[in-house]
Amino acid sequence: MSVRKMDKPNEGIKCIVSTCEYYMNGDHCAAEKVEIEPRNASDSEDTDCATFIPKDKMY
Ligand code: SF4
Repeated sequence: MSVRKMDKPNEGIKCIVSTCEYYMNGDHCAAEKVEIEPRNASDSEDTDCATFIPKDKMY
């Protein structure tokens, strides 16, 4: 499910995933909200942003 893409950065988030539709220059995320998974992660390497959408794939 896609979330709203804002025209400005979500100031609480730094993200370096430049292949994401929500990514903005300067390592910003323009998603109104993000969802992180999985529930039982044991370190930061285990976590992923479930809001990620490949660039140009937003409908
Ligand atoms: S949606 Fe997730 S992966 Fe995409 S820019 Fe925002 S934080 Fe990064």
